[in-house]
Amino acid sequence: MAKAAETSATHESFRDRLDAANRRLMDALNDHARVVQSAREANDADALAALGPDEAARAIETLVATNTGPFSADTIRSLFAEVFRASQALAEGMPPTLRVARKEGKPDVVVRVRGRAIGLAPVLIAGPCAVEDEAQMEAVAASLGRLGIGFLRGGAYKPRTSPYAFQGLGEAGLELLEAVGRRHDLVTISEAVDPRTVELVARHADIVQVGSRNMASYELLKAVAATGKPVLLKRGFGATLDELLQAAEYFFAAGNENVVLCERGIRTFERETRFTLDISAVPLLRGMSRLPVIVDVSHAAGRRDIVPALARAALAAGAHGVMLEVHPHPDAALSDGPQQLDLRELEALLQSFPAGWNQSKA
Ligand code: PEP
Ligand code: MN
Repeated sequence: MAKAAETSATHESFRDRLDAANRRLMDALNDHARVVQSAREANDADALAALGPDEAARAIETLVATNTGPFSADTIRSLFAEVFRASQALAEGMPPTLRVARKEGKPDVVVRVRGRAIGLAPVLIAGPCAVEDEAQMEAVAASLGRLGIGFLRGGAYKPRTSPYAFQGLGEAGLELLEAVGRRHDLVTISEAVDPRTVELVARHADIVQVGSRNMASYELLKAVAATGKPVLLKRGFGATLDELLQAAEYFFAAGNENVVLCERGIRTFERETRFTLDISAVPLLRGMSRLPVIVDVSHAAGRRDIVPALARAALAAGAHGVMLEVHPHPDAALSDGPQQLDLRELEALLQSFPAGWNQSKA
């Protein structure tokens, strides 16, 4: 009995001593951080250079030379490498929260393009999967104009699973999209797939799309950000919402805040649809970020029969817009035929929308 009480007292004092040592360690780490912070506030370049890899390694070796253990030299090295990594981050002034994150007092982003806005009343973005020819684009654009839909999509560079599938018309497709868009006063959207052709896409399209497969192509994100054009950033089909927001942060970090997020389905075990539309992404992204959120229902579904229901679901969940693929003759489309609506089906879909949805003029 006495022995047990003695053991427990020893444990207590061991825990107290460890807690006290931890507190001293934390105080010392914060002392270190304050030194870094004051150098940063004073904008002292020489002082901050001490955090560079060579200087940090020298400082760590100086410590190791006076280390009397019991931690080994290697343990000291790896612990301090972590401390220096943290101070480097502090010195670089990494924002404590993402710039895209929702923040008290920060207004929501509204992307305004050529007299129209995404981020206010819900909008519809429609058009073929790929730009194919003049007659196809003219038929679609005329129909959008007549229905009061303000945004025309069309891929000129198509990221296809098979290298043998139609890859898009490239520059000729961009020229067609631009001409038809101007003729019908529509805002145009087209995907960039390669940093080498980003400029070309930005020259011809009003909004540059980054597709699902490229959400994490960070060099592409930087190249698109540098054009200064509004961006439609699609969620990678294997990406978390946090990863999508970090990708969006690339644009904010480069000073381009005109970013629209797009949920387009994620890969699950379900095979009835091409992807699984993650409808919860809509309210979650709206809560987590300040950016407009739209839903591409066509690529999620992969089949046209459920496109209208998914479009209504997206609006009901609070999306700022819906993207869908339409084609004058879907069964003859060069890509994604099974999921494209024809122009009559597009009109019927609009009639099924709740009152109050409209194309908002900025
Ligand atoms: C597209 O919108 O043309 C497209 C390829 O979609 P996703 O990147 O979402 O697959
Ligand atoms: Mn498509």
